Amino acid sequence: MPRRRAGAAIPEMFRTMLEKPSTRAYPYQKVELPARFRGKLDIDPERCTGCQVCAMVCPAGVITMIDIGTRKVGDKELPVKRPVFELSTCIFCGECVDNCAFKALEMTKQFELATPHKEDLTMRKALTK
Ligand code: SF4
Ligand code: SF4
Repeated sequence: MPRRRAGAAIPEMFRTMLEKPSTRAYPYQKVELPARFRGKLDIDPERCTGCQVCAMVCPAGVITMIDIGTRKVGDKELPVKRPVFELSTCIFCGECVDNCAFKALEMTKQFELATPHKEDLTMRKALTK
């Protein structure tokens, strides 16, 4: 690979000094997100019926259905389940949102998910209903 002289970069340096920066001063400057940006998943526990469809369609195995009790249907006692999401392994595909017939799920615009505590990314909101 041919070596470049150190001085060869000087004209380029002056040229780019007059241009607008191509990077943003994040996190000091707000980042504009595209309209269809898929950030952290959220659930409305009031809408979730525990149908389990989200757990069936999730390609990353993020969703576990947890028994929260039982309900009587006719003469049968059926389990009531709610989803728990392990968001540290979510791939933000949106499959669960698209397939939830009860509109209980949404992809928010939240993308700052870094945390030293992995358990912070376990979403148990639906268990609190
Ligand atoms: S979030 Fe939607 S798809 Fe998942 S269990 Fe609840 S109602 Fe069903
Ligand atoms: S967005 Fe995709 S990977 Fe994440 S929980 Fe929903 S279906 Fe699973």
